[in-house]
Amino acid sequence: MAAWEVDNPQNMSRKSVIIIGSGLGGLSAAISLAQEGYVVTIHEKNAQIGGKLNVLKRQGYTFDLGPSILTLPHIFERLFTRSGRSMSDYIPLRTLRPHWRNFFEDGKVVDLDPDPERMASEARKVGEDPEHVRRFLKYSADLYDLVNTGYFEQGLDNAAAFRKYYGLANFLKFDLFRTMHGGVRRYLKTRHMQDIFDYFIKYVGSSPYHAPAFMNCMATIQFRYDLWYVDGGLYHIALGLQRLMDELGIKVCLNSEVVEVTKQDGRVTGIVTKDGSRHGADIIVSNMEVIPAYANLLHEDEKLMKELEKFEPSCSGLVLELGLDRTYPQLAHHNFFYSDHQREHFRTVFRKRQLPPDPTIYLVAASRTDPTVAPEGCDGLKILPHIPHMDEDHPLTRDDYMAFKERVLDKLERMGLTDLRKHVVFEHCWTPLDIQEQYYSNKGSIYGVVSDRFKNFAFKAPKQSTKYPNLFFVGGSVNPGGGMPMVVLCGQNVAKAVATWDRQ
Ligand SMILES: Cc1cc2nc3c(=O)[nH]c(=O)nc-3n(C[C@H](O)[C@H](O)[C@H](O)COP(=O)(O)OP(=O)(O)OC[C@H]3O[C@@H](n4cnc5c(N)ncnc54)[C@H](O)[C@@H]3O)c2cc1C
Repeated sequence: MAAWEVDNPQNMSRKSVIIIGSGLGGLSAAISLAQEGYVVTIHEKNAQIGGKLNVLKRQGYTFDLGPSILTLPHIFERLFTRSGRSMSDYIPLRTLRPHWRNFFEDGKVVDLDPDPERMASEARKVGEDPEHVRRFLKYSADLYDLVNTGYFEQGLDNAAAFRKYYGLANFLKFDLFRTMHGGVRRYLKTRHMQDIFDYFIKYVGSSPYHAPAFMNCMATIQFRYDLWYVDGGLYHIALGLQRLMDELGIKVCLNSEVVEVTKQDGRVTGIVTKDGSRHGADIIVSNMEVIPAYANLLHEDEKLMKELEKFEPSCSGLVLELGLDRTYPQLAHHNFFYSDHQREHFRTVFRKRQLPPDPTIYLVAASRTDPTVAPEGCDGLKILPHIPHMDEDHPLTRDDYMAFKERVLDKLERMGLTDLRKHVVFEHCWTPLDIQEQYYSNKGSIYGVVSDRFKNFAFKAPKQSTKYPNLFFVGGSVNPGGGMPMVVLCGQNVAKAVATWDRQ
């Protein structure tokens, strides 16, 4: 048992914590802080909890409007075991096979499967020596173990803490001088396999040509710990956490937008909500991203905002849901349709900040394995190409996004979803403008801060404010960054950080 779990919460004075936002990071922080003995209240601007973990139900179809791939459930499990409960009583999980189905413009189709024999035969389909895949996965596993012990589990927040924890010898094991793509290319020789393993960067909305090589740890997250689904859709994770929060007495105020964080003598003192009411707190944890929170709630000066510029947003996405009157049996639950020019795709999104002419597209057909999410004989598709975050130097209009949507549908029809448009009975589409409005994420980012070795070496902002000691942050804009398991881990680490600081 970790040291921070040993303390008896009854011995602590019951201090109050306000959490701004009920994304998964906020929920995890709320539960972990309640387990530490704090009195926790969440203020959420929307009418439901979960943030980007969101659901759309229309005309008999259910779509995961946000995340649809669950990894590392053992990180979520801790929230339950620390309260003497079992996650399986709250959130029913199962694994998926294959993990992903990958479609290429040349007609090749490759599945990702954690079974070594199956993966070997998939590699052979595109002329990749299975031994190359095996070696790449070993490289990935070594990186994962290295990153996990310190950066993930210790909640390290900056280069100095990194150096102290790892020491110089281990520091060099991070494959520091390569990009993520450089690490992939070292082991995998075919374009197909390189494109697939480069696309693990999807989990953090960055570019493998700009992210540091240690991001190759992400393949292990799937190959060692599997890929998971929640029957009925991933929003059941939020519902399970809601039940646990009710049992722990955590108060959630919905439709309660925080418009200001009050401060006095170098400390934050409370919040003001949109209806004008004031709420005091000993400690505040913001699940609103760091940059919008400092700019819009704390009204910080240009100096601090300039320092934060390196924490540039991750990409955004065009989130398109289609209810169909037929199925496309060639689809697996999770599918990727690759750009024929993936390097150019990433350069266009992350450097030129334009909509790519030939995007890589992620497509979920949850109805393939879950009959409850679409009418019988029908598929419901969620389609998600990664596109640039909003950028005032390269402004894009709703018309630009709709023209891009047509390019996406053209590509899918060309790559086997014949006559897709003719079979649409229901359509819903969110652009970065909608995402920004819905979650107040920085410039419509969908994974928080970008992982870029040239801008921030994949570090995100620290969990404890550098300016107000009783202000903390949780979620995709702070370490270790975006993706569901990472923000849940962040919530647990932020509770540790709060308790450690508070007891000093
Ligand atoms: C389309 C899409 C697909 C994704 N796919 C995956 C995937 O397959 N797997 C995966 O692991 N991850 C995926 N992600 C990323 C994952 O969803 C996020 O990293 C994670 O859910 C973010 O959690 P968070 O704690 O940062 O908070 P967020 O989800 O960003 O929530 C922040 C909350 O704060 C609230 N808020 C903000 N400002 C205020 C304010 N002033 N007052 C009150 N409330 C406020 C917002 O309304 C929101 O509810 C995806 C994201 C999107 C959008």
